[in-house]
Amino acid sequence: MSEGAQKKQEKPRKFQAIRGTRDLLPSETVLWNHVEQTAHAVFGTFGFGEIRVPIFESTDLFARSIGAETDVVSKEMYTFGGFAEFSERVRGGRMEGMLSEMQPEEMISLRPEATASVCRAYIEHSMQQLPQPVKLYYMGPMFRRERPQKGRYRQFYQIGAEVLGGSDAPAIDAEVIEMVMTFFDRLELQGVQLDINSIGDRNCRPKYVDLLRAELLKVKDRLGPDSQRRIETNPLRVLDSKLESEQGIIATLPRIADHLCEECAAHYAAVKHQLEMRGVIYRENWRLVRGLDYYMRTTFEITAQGLGSQNAVCGGGRYDGLVELLGGPSTKGIGFAIGEDRLILSLQESGKAPAQEGRDVYIAWMGERAHATAIRAAKDLRKAGFSVELPPLEQKFGKALGQADKLGAKYALILGDNEVSEGLWTLKTLADGSQAKYTEPDLLDHLRKSKAVSS
Ligand code: AMP
Repeated sequence: MSEGAQKKQEKPRKFQAIRGTRDLLPSETVLWNHVEQTAHAVFGTFGFGEIRVPIFESTDLFARSIGAETDVVSKEMYTFGGFAEFSERVRGGRMEGMLSEMQPEEMISLRPEATASVCRAYIEHSMQQLPQPVKLYYMGPMFRRERPQKGRYRQFYQIGAEVLGGSDAPAIDAEVIEMVMTFFDRLELQGVQLDINSIGDRNCRPKYVDLLRAELLKVKDRLGPDSQRRIETNPLRVLDSKLESEQGIIATLPRIADHLCEECAAHYAAVKHQLEMRGVIYRENWRLVRGLDYYMRTTFEITAQGLGSQNAVCGGGRYDGLVELLGGPSTKGIGFAIGEDRLILSLQESGKAPAQEGRDVYIAWMGERAHATAIRAAKDLRKAGFSVELPPLEQKFGKALGQADKLGAKYALILGDNEVSEGLWTLKTLADGSQAKYTEPDLLDHLRKSKAVSS
C-alpha cells in the first residue's frame, strides 16, 4: 500500500478535553453566570472592587507565599520556563556566542490560587497609599495537578476576596465571613455549615506545633503513612485526617485553643462576638487547620450539602505578614476562596439551577421581500432586548414552526408576502397555538407587555 493510501485509511484522532478539565456547556453556564453575577452584586454591596490578575506568575511567588513544602507547590503546580532565548537561537541557526550570553528565563507556573497574586498586585500598585483597608475580589480558573474526582478538578474555578491594610480588627474578619454567608444565602445554597478556629500566630503556634509533634511521636505506630510523614513536615495537617482509625487518637491530642497567647485568644473571642452581633451562626472546630502555610489566627471553612467527601465549598483565613514576606510594607490580610465548581454542584443537586432561557421570537420568513423585512424586524427586536432566532435560509412555514418549537421559542413571527404587503405581521404564541395580527409598533408593544408580565 502506498504511503498516501495508508494515510487515507488512518482515522483522524478524536480529541478530548484533558483529564481533570472539562467543558461547560450553555445548559450549565446559565447557572455559572447567575452565580458570578450574584457575587458581583453581593460583594459590591460590601464595598469590594474586582481585581483581575494574570493566569500565570513567577513560580517563586507561589513557592514563597504558599510554602515550598506544601502539596500544592511541591507536587501540584503546572510549571514552565527555561531557556526561551536558547531555543529561538537554535531555531534561527544563530548559535554563535550563545552559551556565554544565555540567560535562563524565570520559571513560571499556572496559578494554583490567587491570594499570592493579589498580594503581589497590592505591592506592585502601591495600594497601601489608597484608603485602607483595600477590599478586592476575583473570580477565575486555578490549576492544580490533583487526582481528579467528583468536585475535584485540575482546572477549577474560584471566587475569592481579600482585605488588605493596616488593621486586623476582629470586625474585619467577621464582615468577610458575613459577606460569604450572605452570598450563599442569596444563592439559596442548602445545608451550609460554617466552621471557625484560631490557629494562633508566630508567638504561640510554634510552641503548640512542638507540643503536638511530641504527642504525635508517642502514638506514631498507630497512625497511617500520611500522618506519620506529616509529623515531621506539618503536624497540624494530621488534625485534618479523615482516616477512621485515627479519629480516636486525634480526639486525645492537645487543642490549640488551650495554647493561644493572650493576644490571639482575645482576637478569637472578639471575632466570635462580632459574628454573633451579625447573626452569623458558626461552629467552633478545633481541628480546622488550612493546607497553605501563610494562614494565622482566624481560619474558617464552609461546607454544603450534596458534595460527598469533597464538601468544602469555601476556605479562608487571616494571613498577616504575607505582603511583607513578598517584599511589601507591613500589612494585615484576610480572605477566602470559594470553590465555584463545588458551589455549582451543590446548587444543582438541590435543584436551585435556573433553566436555560429559550428564544423569545423565532422569525419564520418566506420570500425575498420578507427576508429583508425579517432582518429589519430582528434588529429592532434585539435592540429592544428580545432574544431572536432568524433562520439564514428560507424554509416552509411548517418546518420553521417545528424548529421554533424545538428551540423553546415563545413566539413565531410569521412573515410572508401577504404580511409584508399588508404591513400586518402574524404572531403565533407557541404554547397555545393562538395567532394574532399586529402592525410593527403594536407588535413590539405587545411583546414588551407580555415579557413584563412573565418576568
Ligand atoms: P484552597 O485554595 O485550597 O483553600 O481551596 C479553597 C476552595 O477551593 C476549597 O474549599 C474548594 O472548594 C476549592 N478547591 C480547591 N481545590 C480544588 C480542586 N482541585 N477542584 C475543585 N475545587 C477545588
